[in-house]
Amino acid sequence: MAVYDKKSMHAEEFINDEEILETLKYAEENKNNIELINSILEKARPQKTAHGCVCKGLTHREASVLLACEDKGVIEKIYQIAEEIKLAFYGNRIVIFAPLYLSNYCVNGCVYCPYHYKNKRIARKKLTQEEVKAEVIALQDMGHKRLAIEAGEDPVNNPIEYILECIKTIYSVNHKNGAIRRVNVNIAATTVENYKKLKDAGIGTYILFQETYHKKSYLELHPTGPKHDYDYHTEAMDRAMQGGIDDVGLGVLFGLEMYKYEFAGLIMHAEHLEAVHGVGPHTISVPRIKHADDIDPNAFDNSISDEIFAKITACIRLAVPYTGIIISTRESQDVRSKLLRLGVSQVSGASRTSVGGYTEEERPHDTEQFDVSDQRTLDEIVRWLMENGHIPSFCTACYREGRTGDRFMSLCKNGQILNCCHPNALMTLTEYLVDYADSETKKIGFELIEKELDKIPNEKVKTIAKQNVEDIKKSNRRDFRF
Ligand code: SAM
Repeated sequence: MAVYDKKSMHAEEFINDEEILETLKYAEENKNNIELINSILEKARPQKTAHGCVCKGLTHREASVLLACEDKGVIEKIYQIAEEIKLAFYGNRIVIFAPLYLSNYCVNGCVYCPYHYKNKRIARKKLTQEEVKAEVIALQDMGHKRLAIEAGEDPVNNPIEYILECIKTIYSVNHKNGAIRRVNVNIAATTVENYKKLKDAGIGTYILFQETYHKKSYLELHPTGPKHDYDYHTEAMDRAMQGGIDDVGLGVLFGLEMYKYEFAGLIMHAEHLEAVHGVGPHTISVPRIKHADDIDPNAFDNSISDEIFAKITACIRLAVPYTGIIISTRESQDVRSKLLRLGVSQVSGASRTSVGGYTEEERPHDTEQFDVSDQRTLDEIVRWLMENGHIPSFCTACYREGRTGDRFMSLCKNGQILNCCHPNALMTLTEYLVDYADSETKKIGFELIEKELDKIPNEKVKTIAKQNVEDIKKSNRRDFRF
């Protein structure tokens, strides 16, 4: 095994190229080694304990062997275990969020993104605080409670002060019964000092996609601008954690490089965070390149099929059982339906990927970052989730109750989810149904909530949750949480 140090703070050590290449070779050599594969699958399975369930997860090497295996029977087993893990730790809840684009000014030269500075065709826009308010009202009127804010990297147009001001504005808006209760942030890699400021502003997760872990490709795909610095970008999560943010979200933009390389890098990154900070990533996103203004996805030769995409997602579920997996509206309804069975725990809904898009009647919009495949309304998404056996959750309780980082993980591990996240999901779904849903969605939803309330194991919690649900239905009292 290549000598590398996952605890090192240097990008090229914890994402060690030699170790990834050896891992890929090992995975290829063992992809038909059924004895080894069965032992890896056994290790990945949830194990019952006195308090609930635990999962050991998998190393990047073990998970890479599963990803390399092409045997249909084994792939089916991977899918089954992915679903078991999802149900054991997250239940049938799916958390819902929407992106909010603040500004598409950008000084970087990312070759896959239409916001690259050389693109003179795309309209540039940065929301004023009044416009932020209008977008937030539009999002609240749909029923959203959780946002991920997005911005290009531009120290002059989008300095940290601007981002902080927007966060403050977002949290300050309460339209009718609406509120944004969790703002996740997807902005470029920054300093420890700025991460501290984001933490103080009350953000949820800090999200930063690695795009690719392959350094040589990374440098070519980010030829100019501050994002060109691979080490600074790759070490961002360590700085975020040093700044006090303990929920961080990783991601790879699939299609840029060979997926097996990316997968090993992604799991190594998770191992590094766990080894150094005692807590792995809160979420992992799995975006694929989409068509956009001057971007043709066919220009990238590493695109992956829907089948491979499903396998990657399921293997992530087995490798990092306590990490949420996010699938955005870049994917179609069909792909999302399939992936929801394989371990996905969060979806975006009714997204606009343009600056000011929520106050526009129609998309596309001339500032859009990429095409959205799933263009359904939030109400359609909520109904679809329920009709497919999921509970749409607008819960934002964890970080507001201080359950971040390892405290969230121990909630999962102690099997307390059914007494905590489950009632929170049902209460926030009730809020959605009462305030925003159409009559058919309401009907399906209230029936579901009734059944699901009875599944709460702790009698005291069950009684309180039922009372809260009734209160929400009868009054304007909102924001109950365990
Ligand atoms: N400027 C920040 C940064 O550098 O991380 C914010 C990121 S951007 C608003 C959000 C993500 O969109 C990027 O990290 C990238 O992975 C993804 N993205 C960019 N172009 C895309 C495309 N054509 N199709 C799909 N996703 C894309």
